[in-house]
Amino acid sequence: MSADPAAPRIPEFVTWPAFPFEGDLRLKPIAPPTDTEPPRRGEDRGDCPSCLAGDDVYLWTDDRWRVKAPPRPSGLPVVLILETRAHLDLGDLSTMHAAELGVLTVRLERAIRSLDSVARVHVNRWGDGSAHLQLWFLARPKGYLQLRGPFMTMWDDILPPTDETQWREDLAYLAAWLDDSA
Ligand SMILES: [Zn+2]
Repeated sequence: MSADPAAPRIPEFVTWPAFPFEGDLRLKPIAPPTDTEPPRRGEDRGDCPSCLAGDDVYLWTDDRWRVKAPPRPSGLPVVLILETRAHLDLGDLSTMHAAELGVLTVRLERAIRSLDSVARVHVNRWGDGSAHLQLWFLARPKGYLQLRGPFMTMWDDILPPTDETQWREDLAYLAAWLDDSA
């Protein structure tokens, strides 16, 4: 019996050097689409973890924006998350908010890339998990060419955590940079 030519196949990217896994791979069956999308985390402002969090858990804040790091170091040198102070998603931003988002995105990319350990900064917004806007800044460590591209989020979980002392120093440096350039 010949294989169904319409069936999904293992894509070419599994052979890329950046793909973190090897060996015999099998595709999961593709679940049928649902009629309705499930609510995201914090869909209601009263249950929104970002809205409920105080400024003390953030690395840097101003009147309309807040920047935080995850609570512990991960495999990448730095991961930062930019959020609006108000309960907004990307499509809700006013023209003023949208313009500030552009300025802050460039400022954060420049700040993180200025760390000696960082070669590149990837900027991502998925929006499937959290209803409150979160823009992720993921730093690729210098020289680690195998981490280039879209699999870097997986490598973040695979690599051993960054040294915590260095991580805290880098976060303090980034907070000072954001204060200086505000
Ligand atoms: Zn919120």
